Formats: sequence, C-alpha cells, structure tokens
Amino acid sequence: MAATAAPHIGDSVIIERIDFQRLLDALRARGYQTIGPTVRDGAIVYDEVTTMTDLPVGWGDEQAGGRYRLRRRNDEALFGYTVGPQGWNRFLHPPVLRLWQAQRTAGQQFVIVPEERDPPRYAFFGVRACELYAIQIQDRVFLHGAYVDPDYQVRRENAFVVAVNCSQAGGTCFCVSMASGPQVGDGFDLALTEVVEGERHYFVVAVGTEKGKAVLDDVPHRAASTAEVETATRIVAETAAHMGRTLETAGLKELLYRNLEHPHWDEVASRCLTCGNCTLVCPTCFCTTVEDVTDLTGQQAERWRKADSCFTTEFSRIYSGSVRASAKARYRQWMTHKLASWVDQFGTFGCVGCGRCITWCPVGIDITEEARASRTGEPANAKAREGATHGDA
Ligand code: SF4
Ligand code: SF4
Repeated sequence: MAATAAPHIGDSVIIERIDFQRLLDALRARGYQTIGPTVRDGAIVYDEVTTMTDLPVGWGDEQAGGRYRLRRRNDEALFGYTVGPQGWNRFLHPPVLRLWQAQRTAGQQFVIVPEERDPPRYAFFGVRACELYAIQIQDRVFLHGAYVDPDYQVRRENAFVVAVNCSQAGGTCFCVSMASGPQVGDGFDLALTEVVEGERHYFVVAVGTEKGKAVLDDVPHRAASTAEVETATRIVAETAAHMGRTLETAGLKELLYRNLEHPHWDEVASRCLTCGNCTLVCPTCFCTTVEDVTDLTGQQAERWRKADSCFTTEFSRIYSGSVRASAKARYRQWMTHKLASWVDQFGTFGCVGCGRCITWCPVGIDITEEARASRTGEPANAKAREGATHGDA
C-alpha cells in the first residue's frame, strides 16, 4: 500500500483506477452489501456489485424528454453516465414491505408479531449530488417529522455512502436550478471525482466521515496534489455549466398556488397518460398504500406497505369516490406538491432536478416546461413532445 499520512476529514486523496476494486473489497470485508450502477436491459440500474466489471465500464447515456439510450464512451470511465431510472430509495424505502403479522391464539385473540428489522447494511456506490440531496429530503420525512419510520431509520443509519461528483450533465438534468448539484454537498462518507486524462485514470476522493477515513486504511491512496484537486473542481464546474434544463425557482411556490385554474393544466392533461412513471422514477416520491391479507384458515394476518402513486384514482379514493378523478387534477397535484406544498410541509422543494420524470415520461412531459408555462401563460412548448421511445443500447 502506498505510504501516506492518514487523511483527515475534509482532505482529498487519490485512488488510482487500478486500485478501485480495493474500495469495494474493503467495504465488503466490513460487512456491507455493495450496491452500485450496472448495465441491465438497456439501462443503468442499481444492484449488488462485487467487482469493477459489474460497473458500467465505458458506458454513457443520452437523455431527452421521453428518451433514454446507452452509448459507448471512448474511454473506460466507471461513472461516465448521469442517472438511470432508479433512485436509492428502492433500498432505503423498499416498494414492498411487510409491516407486521398477527396470529390467532388458542383463545381466539389476535396477537401482533412485530417485524424484526434486520435489513442488509448497504454501501451505496455512485450516489450523485442530486440523489444524496433526495435522500436528505426523505430523511426529513421519515426521520425528522412527528413520526419516525423504524425500517427507514435502521437502513439509513447503517448505510455507507460513496458519492460521485458528476463529470457531465444529462440532457434532462437541472440540479443547478434546484441547488442540489452537481457538486456533492454534505452527507457522504467518501466523495469521488473521476478523472480520465489520456492514459491517466484516477479518482480524487474527499473524506467526509471517520467511517470513510477508516475504510481508506485498506485502500491504496496518497494525498492529492493541488493540481489534482483543481482538476476535479474544474470537471464539476464544467458539468454545472452544461445543464440540460433550467427551472426558475424564485416565487415558484406562490406562482403555482396562484394558478391552480390556469389553462395549461388542461393542456398537459391532454398529453398525460396518468401512467405514474414520473412518480416511480422520482427519488423523493414516497407515497404508499397499505394492504391487509389473511391466510385461508383465518389464523394469520399480515399488513403490507406497497408503493403507490398520486396518479392512480385509487390513491385519493374516499367513501364517495376519487378526490382527483381527472388527469388534470392528478398532474396538478403531483407538480404542485413537488414545487409548492412540499415547501410548506418539509421546508424544501420535493424536486432535486434529476430529470428522471422528464426522461422516463412516455410522452416527454417536462416539469420545467410546465412550470415555465405557468409563469408565462403559454402552453408547454414543443420540447416537451420530443421523441418518445426508450430502449436498448
Ligand atoms: S406526466 Fe408522463 S410519466 Fe407522469 S403520469 Fe403523465 S404520462 Fe405518465
Ligand atoms: S420531480 Fe422529476 S426532476 Fe424532480 S426529483 Fe422527481 S424525478 Fe427528479
């Protein structure tokens, strides 16, 4: 291992690409299940990764409204893409979770059997700035509100975060507008900036916590030079300068509250399929429903939490029917929650500018264009209708 003085929190060190496997190994040796990006079904998804070859080596992506394509890069970058269709919330707030069981006793009473909370200890590899910000937004909901979600709490407290600064912006990204990226903020254990310069390929690694510092004991590294840190800073600055989208946030909450009857809601409703894709891919969406099931003998009952979407009519059904029966009402609810009422509830926007809802909307509806339409009084422009296909590499 390269001899170097132990880094402190806030220091930057260099890990050569050839040694990146050692970082995975060090975390697995500490009992973490390492989750990171991998190529599957023509997209980059998050799953267990054990070796560097599991990562999307040499793959990038192209994104636009209603369009996602993998593309080969001309280098061997490990993190040379933007974000895929999944957020880390699928591991921290699983879409399907049993909450408790109940069993009938000999006296015919039901006894609640609480769930044992022993989920894997995850090490997340490749968490982007906007995604880390989204995790912190969900922390407010599940950890810092009136009620704590015990399952989320144990998953979150056990997680190790290896963040990655973005080296390029996707066509639908607008994290700069939401002040959520592309530079990783706080909340990471280690934060990498990948540098590929001709034959040189290395990571500038910022140390965020004692946990992160301890892991470096088992990974070859050396102190970063001033020039290497400047290179990392320049890469992120160039990413920030090339956002695919922008969203004017000044006065946005008030604008949306003022325009609940704006004609553009009818215009977007004429395109919206109410498929719910935008909520499924969103890293901050957390709505769920609850289902109770019993076995055929009536001896055992279970309560399950399942992901739901404000785009279904059932989600807002009360005794006399759905509160939001029309597509107009459901789209307006979703967007107004993200960009207005979320601020009143949780103190931030419910959107981090990752662009997933734009990319994965089958008809390319664009939250930035819809917000702009409210502001200008104009219907959303043609960009929202650009190509509408997803597919293989
Ligand atoms: S905005 Fe797009 S992704 Fe969302 S429900 Fe409508 S059609 Fe589906
Ligand atoms: S609303 Fe869209 S752009 Fe904003 S965080 Fe959710 S998926 Fe990303």
